[in-house]
Amino acid sequence: MEKRDYYEILGVDKNASDQDIKRAFRKLAKKYHPDVSKEPNAEEKFKEAQEAYAVLSDPQKRQQYDQYGHAAFDSMNGGAGFDFSDFDFSDIFDGLFGSSFGGFGSFGRRGNSNGSRRGADKLMRMNITFDEAVFGTTKTINLDIDEKCSECKGKGGKGEKTCPTCHGQGTVTQEQRTILGAFMSRTTCPTCQGKGVTYEKSCSKCHGNGKVTKNTDVEVKVPAGVDSGSRLRLSGKGEAGYNGGPNGDLYLEFLVKDHSLFVRDDYDIYLELPITITDAVLGCKKDVPTLYGNIKLNIPAGSQNGDKHRIKGKGITHINSSVKGNMYVILNIVIPKKLDRKQKKYFDELAKTNLETNEFKEINKYIKKG
Ligand SMILES: [Zn+2]
Ligand SMILES: [Zn+2]
Repeated sequence: MEKRDYYEILGVDKNASDQDIKRAFRKLAKKYHPDVSKEPNAEEKFKEAQEAYAVLSDPQKRQQYDQYGHAAFDSMNGGAGFDFSDFDFSDIFDGLFGSSFGGFGSFGRRGNSNGSRRGADKLMRMNITFDEAVFGTTKTINLDIDEKCSECKGKGGKGEKTCPTCHGQGTVTQEQRTILGAFMSRTTCPTCQGKGVTYEKSCSKCHGNGKVTKNTDVEVKVPAGVDSGSRLRLSGKGEAGYNGGPNGDLYLEFLVKDHSLFVRDDYDIYLELPITITDAVLGCKKDVPTLYGNIKLNIPAGSQNGDKHRIKGKGITHINSSVKGNMYVILNIVIPKKLDRKQKKYFDELAKTNLETNEFKEINKYIKKG
C-alpha cells in the first residue's frame, strides 16, 4: 500500500511551525486514541498520526523526510519504515484525556534512568441507572489488579548486576543501513528490556514478571450527579508499574440509562406534561412528579401548547456540591381524537360561539377578499 504523506496525515502544510504540528497531532490523538475513540480504524489512524508526528517533530528527521520522503527511513531489506516505538509522547498525552492521564497502553511516559516506569492507566465502563446517577450509589466491582511482587519488590529477580549488553544504559544504538546511507537508531536493550540490570536468579514468586495478579472486590462510591461520560479515578488500580514503578490508575466511565419520564440535560430535568384541552383553556392545579416527590403546579387559564414552567432547584445535584439544577415542565396539550356523545354536544355548542381571536385577523382578510 502507498504510504501517505506525513504532512497530509497531520493536515498541515510543508511550512507548518513546530507548534502547528504539535497542535495538529494532539487533535488527531484525541480523536483516534484507541482507548477512547469510537471511529472506525482508530488504531490504524492513530499509529499513522504517531509516526508522522514522531518524524515531523524532530528537526533532523523532518529535514531528512523533506529531502528524501519515506525513503529516508526505509531500510535496505524493505524494512517497515521509521521506528517510533521508543519515541516519548508523554508531553502530548498529558492532560489530553482529563486529569493525569499519563501512560496509555504502550504509549506511556518514558521511565527514569533505571527503567522503572509507572503502569498504564486503564479505562472501564460502568452502566448505572438514572436514579443511581442522580442520587449517587455504592457499587462493588470485581477487578484483577496487578500488584508489585512483594518478594522481589517488582524487580523480577535477585542478585542484581549491570547488564552486559548495554552496560547499564538500558538502550542500545543500532546502525540502520539504507540506500541513502547509515542512520543510527536507539532502541530498548533486548537483554534487560531497558532496566540496565540483569539478575542472577529469576524471582520464584512472580516468575520474573515483577507483578502478581490479585482478584479483589473494590467498593466504589459513585457521587450524586454523575452523567454519561463522567469519569471517576481509582488511584493505583491500573496496570502494574514496570520494574518497580507505581501502578497506573483505573478510570471508571459511566453510562447512564435513560429514564422513562424525565429527560436530563446536564443538571436540569425536563418533563413533558400532558394536559387536557379544558385544563389548558380554563386553567388548573396539577400534581407533577419531580425527582423529590410530587409538587402542585399552577397552570393558568389560556395556557398554550409548549408553555414552559421552571421549577427552581428540582434538578440534579452538581457533583461534589449542594447546588441543584432546575426542572422544566413543558405543556403538551392533547387534542382528543374521539368524543363521546355528551362531549360532542358540548363542542357543537361551543362551535356556535366565536372563538376566533386576533391571530385569525390577517388570514381572514385574505380569505374574504379572495
Ligand atoms: Zn541491557
Ligand atoms: Zn517477584
